[in-house]
Amino acid sequence: MREYGFELRLCAHLERDGLPGLPDVSADGILGRQLGTSVHAAGGRIVDVVYVEPGPDFGDRVALTAESIPEPAIEADVGVGRFVRESRAIDGPPERARRIAERAAEIGFYERDRRDGRDMVRQVARYPDWYGRIVGIENKPDLGTPGDLTTQLRTDASLGVLDAAILATESYVTGAHLNRLPDPVGVWRVHPEPEPSVEVIREPTPLDPERPGIEPLAWHTDRTDVRVVSADAIATQRRRIAERVYGKGWRTFAMPACKRCVPNRTNAATLPYCEFRDRVVNPADECTADCPGHEPADPPDVDLDAERARRTAWEPAPAPKTRRQADLDRFS
Ligand code: SF4
Repeated sequence: MREYGFELRLCAHLERDGLPGLPDVSADGILGRQLGTSVHAAGGRIVDVVYVEPGPDFGDRVALTAESIPEPAIEADVGVGRFVRESRAIDGPPERARRIAERAAEIGFYERDRRDGRDMVRQVARYPDWYGRIVGIENKPDLGTPGDLTTQLRTDASLGVLDAAILATESYVTGAHLNRLPDPVGVWRVHPEPEPSVEVIREPTPLDPERPGIEPLAWHTDRTDVRVVSADAIATQRRRIAERVYGKGWRTFAMPACKRCVPNRTNAATLPYCEFRDRVVNPADECTADCPGHEPADPPDVDLDAERARRTAWEPAPAPKTRRQADLDRFS
């Protein structure tokens, strides 16, 4: 099976059933796809699927905003009490501060005001302690074409941004395969059709994101360039990842405007199935006017946000928390 369809089917399955072989990881978390975990290596490690376990204040995060909160807005010197000057509280040039403040206000995390000719901001609520463990899953349906798999998983194990790393494959897993993988990496064999099921071949050994990590930056024949990553930098990257997962989810595709797309439901999640290709397709890459099967039509009427809201704790439209909005609500 192609990796894209494999990945979507696995996400649908994990969303419904939680992570197999990790009974102590809560099953009602959220999933995202294609998330960067690198701290110093620009454009470095992209993990296929990331699972974020709810933390103690998950409900407060759900009530705050449906979107990802940008990291600079979280780490700025902006609190919930009094308004502060935007340009002083947010790092960087005024133009950047304004952009960050505007975005944070647009998604409902900041409230903005203008006082004595100055732009002022404050948080509408304290940023909550909302996520627990973060598990990364690398998909490699066919272990016969492993590509950079070993390097990717070695990065996960030594960087330590994740709490656990897992390889998911459709292939039969031999002892030789297991020997090539870093010891902490768990292995799942996924039987994707007709409905996916997951066989746990090896459970992951927990990583320790509270300690500094080692990030590989470049591989040479005789050495690997690395950089130490502080525990603080790891914590920041974890929050960034958790926010992206919360805002984006895994349904990052749009149904194509093609008659041959017949949405297919796997474990009650809707996927972009194409009857011409007889498989789940990646609309962004495959559904162009050049496709020989393309038949222009309105996209199938599917509300992926509504489906996500039905199947997870994510709330697409939480009530605004700004004081001004609360006043308006009271008088409406
Ligand atoms: S554009 Fe091509 S790949 Fe996409 S749904 Fe239509 S026939 Fe299938």
